[in-house]
Amino acid sequence: MKIETKCIQEGYKPKNGEPRVLPIYQSTTYKYDSSEFMGKLFDLEEDGYFYTRLGNPTVGFVEEKIAALEGGVGALMTSSGQAATLIAVMTVAGEGDHIVCSAAVYGGTFNLLGVTLKKFGIDVTFVNPDDDYEVIAKAFKDNTKAILGETIANPALNVLDIEKFAKLAHDHGVPLIVDNTFATPILCRPFEFGADIVTHSTSKYMDGHAVSLGGVIVDSGNFDWAASGKYPEFTTPDESYHGAVYTERFGKSAFIVKARAQLMRDLGSTPSPQNAFLLNLGLETLHLRIMRHSENAMKVAEFLENDDRVEWVNYPGLKSSKYKPLVDKYLPLGTSGVVSFGVKGGREAATRFLDSLKLAAIVTHVADARTCALHPASTTHRQMTDEQLLEGGISADLIRLSVGIENVEDIIEDLNQALNKAC
Ligand SMILES: *Cc1c(COP(=O)(O)O)cnc(C)c1O
Repeated sequence: MKIETKCIQEGYKPKNGEPRVLPIYQSTTYKYDSSEFMGKLFDLEEDGYFYTRLGNPTVGFVEEKIAALEGGVGALMTSSGQAATLIAVMTVAGEGDHIVCSAAVYGGTFNLLGVTLKKFGIDVTFVNPDDDYEVIAKAFKDNTKAILGETIANPALNVLDIEKFAKLAHDHGVPLIVDNTFATPILCRPFEFGADIVTHSTSKYMDGHAVSLGGVIVDSGNFDWAASGKYPEFTTPDESYHGAVYTERFGKSAFIVKARAQLMRDLGSTPSPQNAFLLNLGLETLHLRIMRHSENAMKVAEFLENDDRVEWVNYPGLKSSKYKPLVDKYLPLGTSGVVSFGVKGGREAATRFLDSLKLAAIVTHVADARTCALHPASTTHRQMTDEQLLEGGISADLIRLSVGIENVEDIIEDLNQALNKAC
């Protein structure tokens, strides 16, 4: 099946006489015919559902669809994108370990690693993802357990050289974890370029309508945890889980089973069946929407680039972008709907611009059907110093525009009238 077909057909496949559309299994609990069966279930000798914190049919079907879209062996949905990053990292790292992370990542990821996980004893080194292999390689230590990056960084829009990061990871015996939220598996499938684990905030394009928070972790099944020698938690018995040795018992699915059986069990960041149902609706049209988002954003970026009132434009799809070679390689179909730019007149003009928009709304969110705008330096990233902002590629005048799927002429007209008032 081609990816467009997978968006529709993968996951829930009704049998004779069953509901045509994915049902919402609104049940916390499951019933068994005998205590013997239940015993076997808990000994992992029978397949079945335990409890919705660990798995639910509605959620499970959507996990299957997303795993198919990314080309992975399994997926774990979470209650939010933040929970996906947390569980992905905690599945491979614990107290005394170290993570290398691109400095151009979502603000929430930056804080999770730089503040909260540090309190749990997991150290992090942030690197400039555009630096050469040799420079980034210096950040690795003996206790490094993973390297993280974003395909298209939110909001800096750096395009990740996935093959460079995969080589860095594998030369150091650790997995590459890629946050593929902005690209979605329609525009880029990081596993095809050597990534080992993919995460998403499904709250963005996958949901696409700004109705439900969610996250997902997908396992490529390609990382050899035993061969690396760095992951005793994968290769020795987990006494908290019936003494299972993940690599022996679950083979290629060791990571995603450990994430569910250990971390989801203990952290409980479970998605609701209702939200999984809504996410599935979003996924059915993802291939149409992300293409229109990308086309509209390209036209908006070209309009802004040719306008005197605009100081600079950053959109990886532009011919003038320094990421053009990486876009040609990793994102040939488009580069999503997010464009950033600065208006002449700096911080104050940026504020006037935002306040003058009529069609585009000021919201924290990005990546849904409606055009919206944000000024990160005064909102989502306000806890960062100017220095940290610049390291992540964000200037104080940066306006982040999330271009929707309205008619692009209406979007451009709105930007034009707001620029008139701002400058
Ligand atoms: C929004 C976002 C997150 C966090 O996801 P939530 O669903 O808001 O918790 C993580 N990574 C990226 C790239 C995001 O855009």
